[in-house]
Amino acid sequence: MNKHSDCENFCAIDAAKGICRLNGEFVLIDTAVCTEFEELPKCGNCQCFTQNDKDGMGSCSGFKKEYWSAAENRAVSCEGYVGRC
Ligand code: SF4
Repeated sequence: MNKHSDCENFCAIDAAKGICRLNGEFVLIDTAVCTEFEELPKCGNCQCFTQNDKDGMGSCSGFKKEYWSAAENRAVSCEGYVGRC
């Protein structure tokens, strides 16, 4: 399920809530997203990422050598990022 914290338009205030940049409204992270949802490039949303544990730590296979990564890492400038379809 998509979360507001996975959206390009979301600006976090704390661990539970934030503001939508499109409409200026407060949103709770765990509530349903709207039709304007735009997936944020981050490791957890990349096809090269395999999550290994409950804390979001996993492995990246996007480069020659596999390496550890965290699902919440931003991937805006990552050359290996491949978004999920
Ligand atoms: S309300 Fe929609 S556009 Fe705004 S942050 Fe949530 S999913 Fe993104």
